[in-house]
Formats: sequence, C-alpha cells, structure tokens
Amino acid sequence: MARRFSYARIKSHRNYEIEELAECVGVTPQTVRTWIKEGLPAITDKRPFLIVGNPAKAFLKEREAARKVKRGQGEFYCVRCKQPRKAALGLTETATMANGRRVLKGFCDVCETPCSRFLPASDAA
Ligand SMILES: [Zn+2]
Repeated sequence: MARRFSYARIKSHRNYEIEELAECVGVTPQTVRTWIKEGLPAITDKRPFLIVGNPAKAFLKEREAARKVKRGQGEFYCVRCKQPRKAALGLTETATMANGRRVLKGFCDVCETPCSRFLPASDAA
C-alpha cells in the first residue's frame, strides 16, 4: 500500500527543487521525478527543476482522492490495473490470517493478478 504523504506541509507560494519537495513531503526524490512524469506541474526547461507549491499541492490532493476510489461489494483494488476490479469469474475465497484478520482473495478479472483485501472485523462469517 502506498504511503501517505503530507502535502499539507507544502507552502503554496514557494518554489521547490526536487530534493526539497521530496524532503518536505516525506518521499524520495525518485518519487517526485515519477510524479513529474505523471503530470506534476514543474518548470523543467532548465535545471534545477522547480516545482511551485500550489499546483503541487493540487496535484497530490487529486492523486490522493483518486486513490480513495470506493470498491463495490466483492471488488478488489488491482495493483496492476490501478483500479477497482471484480474477481475473475466471481470467484473469491476467504482466508483467516494468524492475527485473526480475514482476507478476501481472488484474481483480477482483467489482468488476472492475484488480489486480496482485508475484510472489516464486523463482516462476520
Ligand atoms: Zn488487474
């Protein structure tokens, strides 16, 4: 699961170099470079690349909102598709872990990647 990053610490009117933004948000510079490839607004016509606080905040906020996609009943979040997916053939199985948490397992119906999700404790068998 992706780590939460604290975009709230970004100052809106500051310009950040990649390393500065990485440190501010609590990720590696490589992650910031990936974000730039994925559309994080940055001034990249000369080095050092500069990232303006306000659009960076908006980008990360939007990104976080996209991650919170609600899954429907029996759906998994497929890490390969990066989307909620139904279980292939509607087949799922429930496993109980050593710590008592229950896990629903299945395969993504699009790419067949094995998926699993924790079941809420209240979801009694
Ligand atoms: Zn998939």
